Parts: sequence; structure tokens; C-alpha cells
Amino acid sequence: MSALRDTDPALYALLRAEERRQFEQIRLIPSENYTSSAVIEATASVLTNKYSEGYPGKRYYEGQEVVDQVEGLAIERAKALFGAEHANVQPYSGSPANLAVYVALCKPGDTILGLSLPHGGHLTHGWGVSVTGQFYKPERYEVHPDTHRLDYDAIRRKALEVRPRVIVAGATAYPRTIDFEAFGAIAREVGAYLLCDIAHIAGLVVGGVHPSPVPHADVVSTTTHKTLRGPRGGLLLCREAHAKAIDKAVFPGLQGGPHEHTIAGLAVALAEAAQPDFKLYARAIVDNAKALAEALLERGFRLVTGGTDNHLILIDATSKGATGKELSRAMALAGLEANMNTIPFDPRKPFDPSGVRIGTPSVTSRGMGAPEMIAIADFIARSNESRGDPQALERIRLEVAAMCRAFRPPVGAAALYIPGRGAE
Ligand SMILES: *Cc1c(COP(=O)(O)O)cnc(C)c1O
Repeated sequence: MSALRDTDPALYALLRAEERRQFEQIRLIPSENYTSSAVIEATASVLTNKYSEGYPGKRYYEGQEVVDQVEGLAIERAKALFGAEHANVQPYSGSPANLAVYVALCKPGDTILGLSLPHGGHLTHGWGVSVTGQFYKPERYEVHPDTHRLDYDAIRRKALEVRPRVIVAGATAYPRTIDFEAFGAIAREVGAYLLCDIAHIAGLVVGGVHPSPVPHADVVSTTTHKTLRGPRGGLLLCREAHAKAIDKAVFPGLQGGPHEHTIAGLAVALAEAAQPDFKLYARAIVDNAKALAEALLERGFRLVTGGTDNHLILIDATSKGATGKELSRAMALAGLEANMNTIPFDPRKPFDPSGVRIGTPSVTSRGMGAPEMIAIADFIARSNESRGDPQALERIRLEVAAMCRAFRPPVGAAALYIPGRGAE
């Protein structure tokens, strides 16, 4: 980064500080990851200089002979990796991708049925503060009051009652496998379109550790930067029958020029995710999450649904006498990044909820395994006991940094997941 260092020392220093922070902390936010250096190089490329409104072969500006091939590569790799008939790689992120689906399939005021936000759904599944809950008529399903799992009979009843135009299957804080086939059957029965939003689990799907929604969905949306380990962006996959409507909704419906530098980074990430190593990576994410969940249960934490099938764990902090905010703050001071989160039927308010959401995609990218998951559970338990004791939390932070030094993130190093790579 010598040009940046010379041109803008202040910004250069900030980037170095962030790099260091990402190196020295245990990053447990389940929607974050470390991309490879190859992804970062493609994303930080000359493609940021180019306008390319339209789609490959149908552009409005000249000079597209290279860009068309870049976007074409990303499209072909996405279709092959997910087994989809059509791919649109232009959405700027997951939220605009979801809006594009509604624009393609609905008229304003049509009903969207999605998982309630406090039960693990996403803002863009029709929550009121999102335009998706204002331009369309939002209806909600919830998890089962006892098991806190999706209740497909209840979802079917709700769908029969409200007759939605689109049913959204997918979540941002749900620790269990989603039965996309069951959603597909419900959607067909009520004559709704099915949108499967796999923003969190796309990497698990292509890694073969979560069933794919592609055979069951009209449209699949995802972010590209969570378990998929690409640059920040969005991706839509759909049946050929919806291809025209989806493409039109993204451009010119919602967006202007696509971010071809991001699309190039996505092409690299999709090629990485097609490697055999990526299956090991996805398996290791889930194995690590199960090991971490087990170790937390042994230390007396209550977990929503009692454990996990995927990359994500929802801790009920109140089971250890803390609020979600108190626990996530104590963890942050000890060098463990997470986020506070509501839990299903949370009696507390969203800005001070009962839960803390953690996940294993980032620590797995660093090559951490079962022994480190037990160490992390210990760090979390000790952080909780040391709430309000800055010196004790600082002592934990030094131990955390020492463990992190043995597990290099892939940034600036190898591209792909290598178990136990860290130790050098
Ligand atoms: C993260 C996420 C999104 C939104 O992605 P952004 O890139 O933050 O806009 C949409 N849906 C789900 C389920 C998500 O987890």
C-alpha cells in the first residue's frame, strides 16, 4: 500500500489499524469473515474506473470488451457453483438484492410473508423500518414458542390465511437447518413465489453442509461476503422463467452502473468456493460451531434451541445474569467481537436485548479448530464473570491476542482454508 501511504498517511494509518484489529481479535460476528488476498486484489483493481450499465453484450457505453468477460466469468461460475439456471451478479449488497426480487415479482402493496425480525428474520423480509415493509404489505411467521424452531405447520396455516405473493425463507439469526423443500411445498400450495435468502449460509450450501434451496425456490438471494467469503456484494439466482424480470429489476429498476471491481472479486471467491478445500472449510465451520456450543453449554450458558446445526449460536445471556449488551460489551473489552441480539419472545428491548449472537466463519478461516473453540468458550465465560472489572478483561485480552498470533488470517497470506495453517 505504498501509494496510499505516500498520498494519504492518515487513511493509511487507519487501514493498518483495522488490519491489526482484525488480526488481534477473535472475530465472532457470524456475518463477517476474512476474504483471501486474491479477492482483495481483484476488488482493489482498475475495474473501479469503468462504467458498464447493462449486461454483458448489451451495454450502453463503449469499451466493454474486458468487463463483459469479467462479469461473464462471475455469472458462469455462480450458475455452476449453485446449479442455477440464471445468475445476476450486480446487486450492490444483500438488501438491494432482496428489494430487486420484490420489484421483479410484486406490485406495490402485495403481501410478503417473512420470518419476524426478533425471531431471526432480516429487515428486508418486510420489517416496518425497511422500505420492504412500507412498499409491500408485510406478514410474519414466528418460531415455535417452545422449541424456538421453525414450525412448518404454523407457517403453512399462516400462508393459507394471508395468501402472500412472496414467501421469504431465510434468516439472519437462526441456528438450525432450514427445510427449503417444506417451504417450496407451502409456496406451491398457496400459489406464492418462494424467495430463499441464504445470505448467512451460502458458503455452507456450496460446501455441502446445508441443503440447497435452488431446486425449491423461484429466486435465491444471497450476500457474497458472509460464509461465501467474497467481497461485499449481493447475488441473485433464479429460474430462467424469472431471468428477464430479475435483470430488469436490478438494472434499470434499482441500480445504475454495476461495481465491476466487486464483481471481479466475487468471480475469484466463486472459483475459490469451487475448490475441494472449500468443502473442508464449510464442514470445519459447522464442526467448530458445534464444539463451541457444546463448550458453552458445559459452562452453564443457555443457547437458543439448545445448540446449532450451522455456523451460528445464539446465547441467552440472561442465563448467566447478564443482558446481551453487558455480555457483548465485556467480550469486546476482552478482544472477542460479537453482537447483541434479540432472542425469540425476548422480554427485553432490541437496543438492550437478552442475547448475544456469535459464529465461527472467521475463526475457521484462520485455521482454528476444536481446542481453540474450548479456549474461546472459556474466554467468553471469564469475560462474563469479569463484567465491570476492566483490569481482568484486559488480562483476558492479552491472552486472546496471544492465541490470535498463532492463527494468521488469510489476508496477506494463503488464499484458501488450510486446517491448522495458523501455527507457524
Ligand atoms: C446480511 C443479510 C442481508 C443483507 O445484506 P447486506 O449486504 O447487509 O445488505 C439480507 N438477508 C439476510 C438474511 C442477511 O443475513
